[in-house]
Amino acid sequence: VPALTNIGVLAACRRDGGQDAIHLICDAALAWEGGRITWVGHQSELPHQYGGADIIDARGRLVVPGLIDCHTHLAFGGWRAGEFVERLRGRSYLDIAKSGGGIAATVRATRAASNAELLARCDAWLREVVRLGVTTVEAKSGYGLSEEEELRLLSVYAEVSQGSAVRVVPTFLGAHTVPAEFADRRDDYVDLLCGPLMTAVAARRLARFCDVFVEESAFTIDEARRVLAAARACGLGAKVHADQLSDGGGAALAAEMDAASADHLDCVSRDGIARLAGSTTVAVSLPVATLYLGRPPMPARALIDAGVPLAVATDFNPGTAPTVHLPFAMLLACTLQRMTPAEALKGATIYAAMAIGEADACGSLELGKRADFAIIDAPDVDHWLYHFTANRSVATYIAGAPIVTAQNFSR
Ligand SMILES: [Zn+2]
Repeated sequence: VPALTNIGVLAACRRDGGQDAIHLICDAALAWEGGRITWVGHQSELPHQYGGADIIDARGRLVVPGLIDCHTHLAFGGWRAGEFVERLRGRSYLDIAKSGGGIAATVRATRAASNAELLARCDAWLREVVRLGVTTVEAKSGYGLSEEEELRLLSVYAEVSQGSAVRVVPTFLGAHTVPAEFADRRDDYVDLLCGPLMTAVAARRLARFCDVFVEESAFTIDEARRVLAAARACGLGAKVHADQLSDGGGAALAAEMDAASADHLDCVSRDGIARLAGSTTVAVSLPVATLYLGRPPMPARALIDAGVPLAVATDFNPGTAPTVHLPFAMLLACTLQRMTPAEALKGATIYAAMAIGEADACGSLELGKRADFAIIDAPDVDHWLYHFTANRSVATYIAGAPIVTAQNFSR
């Protein structure tokens, strides 16, 4: 029976306790069978049936649950480096969006990309993230914005998921922005989203969640409410891109609709925080986007003080967060949002699992959960994020199987 021993520190990251409760065990061991965790605790108490040839030596390193990126826009064509430079020169995101750039530019590039091209790109990124210790990724559509193209993107996720050990949780984001073809008849687009498109997504089981971008350049609260109600009627969970560039009441809507998550929240109001605190909705911080847009950080401390679970994700997308590096997002959660490394870790593990409805399966190192974990070459969680390097993960296991092991990690 396989077991990982000689773990310097293991962060179990159970759901109980607050944002900074990561349930550390020093001199730990972890064992699993059939892909599920069967034992976790102090190595001195490891039962005798574990051992022999299946012992893996962690050499005193840190072990954490497999990281979960609960907010990405994984499938898209092209890039937008030109806009990056325009914004550095002072042009605003909304101004660029109004003149046909932004999401609309990526929609054009995505529609022009073949299935094979999109698949190859997604597959390459999953290979990259698993090396960083990431074992589960949420992936949104939203660069198709027509019935055919949205279904195509979600099908790409189904296909890439089959060929990858990394778990992919798909989200339907047809409500990313109103596509150019519907500019003068946005009601018709909302009708399409709520009607035939939502029905097709649900019937083919292509998504677990439906997300809506509530913003001046995207959808109103009333439109978002209609879309999320239609999603619920089809059995899809709700998510909201909320209060990113302005306080549009997105957080309150997420709470009202029992959304799994309210994401961004850079401009969330005090009322929005109070609504989230009284709900089951997880807040998701996306500090890479905050950094790239050069905007003030989200009020992480106020959310945490109010008792709202706060996840951390990359928001990987070609406009405002062109990196898949989740530990980098965790570092930014510390430096921009004043979160401790322990709080950021809880945000990228069990709270991220809650944000995508996967908390029963993964996100913590507990009995019965999938044996998804990463071995980090650092003495503890604080040191890992403080002394930042390109990649400190030396081995990533999914369901008990080693998916990547670095050269400096040997059994
Ligand atoms: Zn996003």
